[in-house]
Amino acid sequence: MSALPRSARAAVMTAPGEDLKIFEYPLPVVETGCILVKITCCTICGSDLHTWQGRRKSPLPIILGHEIVGTIVEMGRGVTHDSGDHPLKLGDRITWTIMDNCGKCYYCREKGLMMKCRNLKKYGHDSCAEAPHFVGGFAEYCLISPGTCVIRVPDSLTDREAAPANCTLATAVAAWEAIGIQPFENVLIQGAGALGIYAAALAAHYGCNRVIVTDVNDERLDVIRNFGATHTLNISGMEDDEIIEAVSDLTGGVGVDAAMEAAGVPSIIPLGLNCLRIGGRYVGVGTVFAGANVTIDASVIVFRMLTIKGIHNYDTRHLQMGIDLLTKIREKYPFGSLVSHSVSLDNINEGLKLALSGKAIRVAVLP
Ligand SMILES: [Zn+2]
Ligand SMILES: [Zn+2]
Repeated sequence: MSALPRSARAAVMTAPGEDLKIFEYPLPVVETGCILVKITCCTICGSDLHTWQGRRKSPLPIILGHEIVGTIVEMGRGVTHDSGDHPLKLGDRITWTIMDNCGKCYYCREKGLMMKCRNLKKYGHDSCAEAPHFVGGFAEYCLISPGTCVIRVPDSLTDREAAPANCTLATAVAAWEAIGIQPFENVLIQGAGALGIYAAALAAHYGCNRVIVTDVNDERLDVIRNFGATHTLNISGMEDDEIIEAVSDLTGGVGVDAAMEAAGVPSIIPLGLNCLRIGGRYVGVGTVFAGANVTIDASVIVFRMLTIKGIHNYDTRHLQMGIDLLTKIREKYPFGSLVSHSVSLDNINEGLKLALSGKAIRVAVLP
């Protein structure tokens, strides 16, 4: 492997809503337990857009991007295997969890909620002002710190297939697990973006009966029919009662067993609850910004005996499950096609605008 440069480039956000600027930073020293990766692909997630648009508070300056795949260019002392116990070597292609957690705090050790670690670091979420600088995906390199779960990407998966796994796919795995969907159940997915697409493919793979998806965009609904959705409903212009009735008609008059908010549109949550059967389960996933107030008739929760959960990010095992599942079902669903556009680091602002327009499910940044 050729010698590493002394410095490398990153696209840095210095203010919400403004174009990212290319900065050059010195490459970090690779300490014990760390891995330096040359990024080969980072896809733009909806949460990157929320931060860029100022809907989420963020430290500045920041290198956004957390759906990352890259090759190992340097390994710190003590790094020998990935989290699945596969040996690691220079040149291996890897992905890794969105978070670095301490494994020792109350939430890590006592409550099994490592995504809420008290000493949490998240790639693409922390300031890049100080060394090691390279802690986000829109850059040429990324330094992986020791509390991160690293996974060697199987050769059968392309970068485009693997990159969204460490956020969107792993989150979809965690969300369905949280409300325990079962074979032959009927499910509703509200939103046909990337999260909804992975959720549909998983539900179909798990053996669900009806996989019903609602959205307001016909093109997205066309796409999701290739990813396991059995029924799609464009709800633009429809009254809530009509939508509830349509879902009821598809489920023998009882409503769905489980539903997921995957659109990042909080106002659809009451509708989703009303589409559940008695004893149904609901998981909120897409609303990842504050101030998302909705009014819910609490009697619906009581009389219909509903379970409501929220899932933010995922546990380390969900990423491994996501990669394993992707390897298994990649022949069946065209995951690579979800990344319909790519841009270079220099053209990242065009990529962000394209992603914001909703015209692409995922845009890849290829440094
Ligand atoms: Zn912790
Ligand atoms: Zn994300």
